[in-house]
Amino acid sequence: VTVDIRISGATVIDGSGAPRFDADVDITGDRIVAIGRGGSPARREIAADGLILAPGFIDVHTHYDAQLHWEPTASPSSWHGVTTVLCGNCGFTLAPAKPEDSEWLVRMLSRVEGMSPEALKEGMDWRGGSFGEFWSALAPRLGINAGGYVGHSAIRRYVMGEAASERAASPDEISEMAGLLRQSLLEGALGFSSSQLAMHLAHDGREVPSNFAEANELKALAAVLGEFDGMSLEFIPRTFAEGYSPEDRELIVGMAREAGCSIELNTLARLPSNPQSWRQSMDFAHEAEGEGVRVRPMFAANRFDVFFALGSTFLFDELPAFREVLTAKHDKRTAMLRDPDTRARLKADLANPKAFAPSWDICRLEDMGPSGSAKNVGKTVETIARERGCDPFDCFLDLSLEGNLETTFMMPRRETPEELESKREMILDPLLAAGSSDGGAHLLSHVGADFPTRLLSEWTPDPLSLEQAVFRLTGDQAREHHIQARGFVREGHFADLVLFDPDRLAVGESRFVRDFPAGSSRLVRDAEGYAMTMVNGRITREDGQDTGAAAGAWLRGGGAAA
Ligand SMILES: [Zn+2]
Repeated sequence: VTVDIRISGATVIDGSGAPRFDADVDITGDRIVAIGRGGSPARREIAADGLILAPGFIDVHTHYDAQLHWEPTASPSSWHGVTTVLCGNCGFTLAPAKPEDSEWLVRMLSRVEGMSPEALKEGMDWRGGSFGEFWSALAPRLGINAGGYVGHSAIRRYVMGEAASERAASPDEISEMAGLLRQSLLEGALGFSSSQLAMHLAHDGREVPSNFAEANELKALAAVLGEFDGMSLEFIPRTFAEGYSPEDRELIVGMAREAGCSIELNTLARLPSNPQSWRQSMDFAHEAEGEGVRVRPMFAANRFDVFFALGSTFLFDELPAFREVLTAKHDKRTAMLRDPDTRARLKADLANPKAFAPSWDICRLEDMGPSGSAKNVGKTVETIARERGCDPFDCFLDLSLEGNLETTFMMPRRETPEELESKREMILDPLLAAGSSDGGAHLLSHVGADFPTRLLSEWTPDPLSLEQAVFRLTGDQAREHHIQARGFVREGHFADLVLFDPDRLAVGESRFVRDFPAGSSRLVRDAEGYAMTMVNGRITREDGQDTGAAAGAWLRGGGAAA
């Protein structure tokens, strides 16, 4: 028999953590049909000598629910070797929704996850409906495998309307929500997601619906997952930043027990405000594991640079002169920023050692906004100041004014030795999941979708071997999230594959692109070193170019088969 595609001479890292081996990998249709030394003829042969062939990466924490409507590849995740994304995290989904609530949900999502409301309005034709309707409309266009959670805030809004953003639920409302969740799971949802962070404010100034849920509601909804096999549960507790309070710990363990599956928690990081909380969280996860409950926080391999514009930033809010200027109305603000005396007071503010003080030698001009000239974009403020023969701080203010305060600057994040050490410990802990991309969200403040490339290029061979790092991005996630026949290079599995040169893997600088609906922009990071990405046997990306193949599948959870 002739096979469709042979990837020949590759070094295979199969996603299990096992040592690499050399083999030809044959693909026919959407499946891997042989791994070895292929004797049968192939319609197309891809020479892969010197390259690593691995399962496509699985990103379990994304918010591509909206973006996939107009950008079906889920970039920039897809640029970084990702072939499967799980959407609808943190309780924020657009389905199920009553038609009259769909706009409210879209605006809430755009507010809490930092997406342009205009882009969502122009780029999506979603007018409400069931979970199954949402995903079956999306399915034929997908350029990547994708599936979704049912979001707590969506089902709460559906059942309680406005009251969802005001109060606890009654027993009747809880059972109605449980029914809606059950129905969505039968229609293919992968599981249930929720969050209770106080910082999650909706567009209407109120906290998001899930924040008003009491423990009994969360446990009752988790219990619906217990009716099915192969479910996933994701949650961000209220006291995440404090290493989880005793009440939250009880809630987390209670939800996981009711659901009968593991519970995935938000990303741990060494927080300047609470430098021990990451360790307390890890200790808690291990204690729970000892009691037979699998609690999985995530670790972040990515780095978040800081982006800011004087029209919108809150970074300087602790400095009195800055606060005075940056809370003034636009016209007054620009007048003050031109005034030499005010400038002197602002500059004096920055001498405060606790202040956010950009270093002008590395702080870069990112974007001049729609009204400004792009001429100096990419240069550091110090360089531009030297060219103009002025003081860097004045130059920063001038550039801000020239872009009508929409001028965006970027300060690269320098990690402290303590941060790096804590990251290393988290990455080494097999209980922690690789994740934290928030892909599709926070489009103007940072890019997290590069984490697979970071993990493979910056955290191997020390502390992780390449095989271990690939396992964390593939087999580990497929197993944990019950994703069938994916996550490993195996005969009979779907041909989700990524071919890369480990010595050339690198992440580009964050850059703005204005390619979203309604002329809105987003930050992306390029990837280097990937030769080819394949989704379900079809090449979706080759030498850094998308092929446009709508090769993705809608991933349905265990309920769909029940
Ligand atoms: Zn999230």
